[in-house]
Parts: sequence; C-alpha cells; structure tokens
Amino acid sequence: MTSSFSPQHLDVKAFAQAQGDLSDAVDLHNMPRLRADCAENVAGKVIWSAQGELRQASDGHDAAWMHLQAKTEVPLTCQRCLKTVEQALEVDRSFRFVKDEATAEAQDDESEEDLLVLSKDFDLLALVEDELLMALPLVPMHTSCQSEHAPTSKDDSDADVDAKPNPFAVLATMRLGKN
Ligand SMILES: [Zn+2]
Repeated sequence: MTSSFSPQHLDVKAFAQAQGDLSDAVDLHNMPRLRADCAENVAGKVIWSAQGELRQASDGHDAAWMHLQAKTEVPLTCQRCLKTVEQALEVDRSFRFVKDEATAEAQDDESEEDLLVLSKDFDLLALVEDELLMALPLVPMHTSCQSEHAPTSKDDSDADVDAKPNPFAVLATMRLGKN
C-alpha cells in the first residue's frame, strides 16, 4: 500500500498514519541546487529513504513524524590545492510536522527535532536536497591534502635532496665519463 505514495507530492499525514516507507536512488542531475555547488559534472546518485510515524504528542494529539536518511558523494573543490575532492555526504534526521508556520516558529526553540509544516503535497526530494546542502562542508579539503597536493615542497630545498640525485654529483659522473 505504501508504494502508492509519491515522493514529490506526499500527503505527510497519510504517510505517517500508514507508517509509510519510501526509498529510491535519484540522479544528482535532478538536484540542481546541490549540483551548482559541485566542482565538475556530477554523475552519481543520491540514495535516500524515509519512514513515516504517528506519535502521540504531550497535548494528546497525534503528531506526524518523518525519519529521513540520505547519502551520496559529490565532487567539490579542495580549498587548499583547488583540485577536486570527492566528499561523502550523509543525512540522518527526524522531523515533526506541525499545522502551520506560526506553530513551527513558536515551538522551534523548545524542540530538539526539526519542525516542518504539514502538507498534502510535500516535496520529499526537495527536503533531501535541502539536507544534503546543509551537510556540505564549509571548507572542502582533502583529508591528507598537505602532504599530497600542497605546493610547499617546491620551496623546500631540503626535501628535494632526498627525491632527486644531487645535480653536482651527476655532473661529476658525466665529466669522468668524458675523460
Ligand atoms: Zn587538496
């Protein structure tokens, strides 16, 4: 029965009441806002899943909840070497739905969970994209960039001695060969 729910036109309350369970793999191409932050053309997929749940709130009424998981890998620009760094993104969050914006604002400070406004036409994929955008690192960087890509060894003459043969020794050998 739960397969009848449409991720981009989701009746949130019905999804929660049915304890719905949706999951899919979406091309990153279909997430233009996330794609705009990527270093190059993206070819990967976002794997996501969502579960609906109805929980009794403190006021006795049932509240619609949604648990969302998503993961993907995106190419970002390393802010140290400016080359591409593959960044894994992972989202695992729970949301409680309230009846309107005013309620969401009023309860936001006292709630640990994230609050969203109930809708019969909720775009779950937009929420997945929102959450992935928030999971992006502020400063993307290779984890071991300093040793692998940073242009510090150019100026470091001590490091060159170990890597290359001593040019004077090479010259001496050539002269010896000539004589
Ligand atoms: Zn780097």
